[in-house]
Amino acid sequence: MKTDRRGKHPTTGRGSAGGTPKTVNAAYQGIGVSPGIAIGPAHVVESGIPQVPEYTVEADALDAEVARFEAAIAKARKQVGKLRNKADALPNTMLDELGPLLDAHAAMLRSGRLTRGVPARIHEHGINAEAAVQAVVGELVRGLAAVDDAYLAARAQDVREVGDRIIRNLTETPYQAFSMLPVGSIVVAEELSPADTALMDPARVGGFATALGGPDSHTAIMARSMGIPAVLGATALPARVRSGTVLIVDGEAGRVIANPDADTLADYRRRAQALIRLERQLARLRSQPAITTDNARIALMANLELPRDLETARRGGAEGIGLLRTEFQFMNRPDLPSEDEQYATLRQLVEGMHGKPVTIRTLDAGGEKLATALGDRIAHSANPALGLRAIRLALKEPKLLETQLAAILRAGAHGPVRILLPMISSITQVRAVRVILTKVVRRLKRRKARIADPIPPLGVMIEIPGAALAADALALECEFMALGTNDLTMYTLAIDRGDEQVADLYNPLHPAVLRLIRFTIDAGRRRGIPVSICGEIAGDPRYAPLLVGLGVKELSMGAAALPRVKQRIRRLSLTAATQRAAAILDQVDEGRIAALLDDFNDGL
Ligand code: PEP
Ligand code: MG
Repeated sequence: MKTDRRGKHPTTGRGSAGGTPKTVNAAYQGIGVSPGIAIGPAHVVESGIPQVPEYTVEADALDAEVARFEAAIAKARKQVGKLRNKADALPNTMLDELGPLLDAHAAMLRSGRLTRGVPARIHEHGINAEAAVQAVVGELVRGLAAVDDAYLAARAQDVREVGDRIIRNLTETPYQAFSMLPVGSIVVAEELSPADTALMDPARVGGFATALGGPDSHTAIMARSMGIPAVLGATALPARVRSGTVLIVDGEAGRVIANPDADTLADYRRRAQALIRLERQLARLRSQPAITTDNARIALMANLELPRDLETARRGGAEGIGLLRTEFQFMNRPDLPSEDEQYATLRQLVEGMHGKPVTIRTLDAGGEKLATALGDRIAHSANPALGLRAIRLALKEPKLLETQLAAILRAGAHGPVRILLPMISSITQVRAVRVILTKVVRRLKRRKARIADPIPPLGVMIEIPGAALAADALALECEFMALGTNDLTMYTLAIDRGDEQVADLYNPLHPAVLRLIRFTIDAGRRRGIPVSICGEIAGDPRYAPLLVGLGVKELSMGAAALPRVKQRIRRLSLTAATQRAAAILDQVDEGRIAALLDDFNDGL
């Protein structure tokens, strides 16, 4: 039965909603990454490419163009491979549908007329890879469509879909802006990048759900910071719903329900109302300090992903910004922001905090956080997480860093700022930044620009195990340290934080991670410099007793998490938390550690 496998489509959602006839209460399990309940019509993101750039390429650059194509093919193979692995875990009915389809795509990406035809076309016509893919796909599709046969028509569709995927990888096109969606829509996609997510307006997008993505990916972090309920890793969902299907996203349980019946809808509406009431109660804590029952004061700061998080931070009573991720300034644009442009944005944020400190991290591009404008310089590493990213890129492209430091120094004339360096692994890097900082200060003074006075403190992120182990040396070179436990967990355990396939192994409570955290805190204490935590564990109330018990005095988190963490801190005693943290640090078994922590939380 050649045609049977063509029921549904893994990315565009042209399949029938939740099965045919319409399956009521069809449930899809994924990973809940941003709590809350959203109910609304699905908007299934089409993976088609709106515009394919076309230009001629000089003869001496044609090999590089072929290499770009090959990198895009390699990425496509990985994407399809990941989906295929996950599909194996699906119930048989879903697997029968998706498995053969993905196998066909994988075969086409391994070798065939597409993989051979495109490099030949690039060389023969002297054109860019995207245009060559489009031309070759067009030829193949026309050939297949010329014969009146359902199987061949399905093959033509496969070719188009594979071609679209390759072109998306080549252009790194973000999905369409979500500004035209009906209010309350649930965005459904195979995968959403942080840049895609940045385009979502929480007033319009009720929630989102994807087939791929892990719990501490930046897409997940962004969802939490925007307060948008989200489920990642719901493998079969995009293939089985279509736009308009009513969905419930339960961001706590990690579940999506398609075509809910009246009882289910009523139940989830009740739960959503209860959550809103709870948020209102928590909001009353806004002006209360985060203080333990035995009077230890903890500073609660906000992490900012996007300027619009500032309002949530203020509403949550943030005592400052503990981590401003500047990547947003480089996203969804083809060029780099100028010093003036960066300054204007940073100044607004600094002024918006009314004298409270703003910790500005220099660009942490690379890994999954690709900035289109930098694409060529950082996109082609075999191991992007270990490649030219963050401070390594900044020191290799000092102009980039100088421009950003100049903007930060100028913004610092309008309120207190701190400069934070991502992915530091050695004291040499901190010294090199200091030399550049001094040079930029001198240059700005010559220009008679108004800058921060005194020069802002310089801090380092501790997010590489080697940096944690060298924390006492690093502490001599900087004025503060910020523990980035998201990357620290990833690099310590060798688990990709964005990969849902190994999400169950990603565990900040692993004894190795906890020992590195303690080591860093102790080093900071010995050297007399503050150590904060700005990884995602800082925003999870469950971890608060452990972190406070380990001696942390400053926690920085997604702004939406502030009230819940504050509530937990106000219930605990520092003495008891310190004892429990010591008991936890004595354990080697992750399960026992989790049990000791949960037991402590249950008693609060
Ligand atoms: C971290 O790694 O913990 C961190 C805070 O930085 P980011 O999540 O931006 O990598
Ligand atoms: Mg990090």
